[in-house]
Amino acid sequence: MADGYNKPIPIPQPESDNYWEGTKAGELRLRHCDDCNQAYFYPRNICPECGNNNTSWIVASGNAKIHTFAIVHRPPHPGFMDDIPYVPAIVELEEGPKMATQIVNVEADPSKISIDMAVKVVFESITDEISLPKFEPA
Ligand SMILES: [Zn+2]
Repeated sequence: MADGYNKPIPIPQPESDNYWEGTKAGELRLRHCDDCNQAYFYPRNICPECGNNNTSWIVASGNAKIHTFAIVHRPPHPGFMDDIPYVPAIVELEEGPKMATQIVNVEADPSKISIDMAVKVVFESITDEISLPKFEPA
């Protein structure tokens, strides 16, 4: 664990190992259904749309737009105390899927952040194995 990192840390699962290897390598990897030709998130072997397992991995562009966001002043976990105010968000990736993340490198002020604002992925290394995908203004 990185010194001083005291937030919850994701635990890779068999279906998400490649996703976490990707974020560590600076890539946002998504599952893609080769039958109904769409990307989806979170990573799993079975397509959530058509139920087939003819799926593969793709590397996302990292471009997205903000679907919704909040500005947190009272953190749900003591590890986030030093970060307040911070901006958890749902972003819609260029490839279609939505994912939960955090908007960074922007002032946590509602006049500086808006729905549909263009953002791009950045990676925060938190341990030797885990880097978290976050998004900053594009
Ligand atoms: Zn499908």
